[in-house]
Amino acid sequence: MLNKIGVANKDLVLSRFFDEKTLVKPKAILECYEEIPCNPCSTSCPFDAIHIGENINKKPELDVDKCVGCGICITSCPGLAITVVSIKGEKAIFKIPYEMNPKPVKGDIVSGVNRHGEVICDVEVVRVDGHQRHDRTVILDVAVPLIYLHDFITVRV
Ligand code: SF4
Ligand code: SF4
Repeated sequence: MLNKIGVANKDLVLSRFFDEKTLVKPKAILECYEEIPCNPCSTSCPFDAIHIGENINKKPELDVDKCVGCGICITSCPGLAITVVSIKGEKAIFKIPYEMNPKPVKGDIVSGVNRHGEVICDVEVVRVDGHQRHDRTVILDVAVPLIYLHDFITVRV
């Protein structure tokens, strides 16, 4: 259940993450917690890694073995509920959708924010993908201290 302020609690978040061994390779994290009639994540994946089934109200499930972490599904989600996460040493590399302005540039140090909107750490922007296929959304690759793997959700520039 989402709590009263609409923020996923730790158990919900953990139910959508994979263990650190699996995250040595990038995997989509589908933070989609409500049963709603929605499926563009599933239809966008060229690797058939996201399954919803015949009942479009069901929550999407990731076939972790099929997911190659390409990030194509990220901007397909109208709820900005998808990130792609991998672990490199002491950092978690998150691919996140970002729609605010100004957009950061590679090398910027920006604020990492948790699900409550609180600044929790500094994160480095390691890549900015502003390809027009994403419309007005850019995909940021950001390096987050690993201790915030399950807390980080987005950045504030
Ligand atoms: S990251 Fe790529 S392979 Fe993985 S679910 Fe998304 S679109 Fe499919
Ligand atoms: S597109 Fe986003 S909101 Fe819709 S089912 Fe997929 S993850 Fe959930």
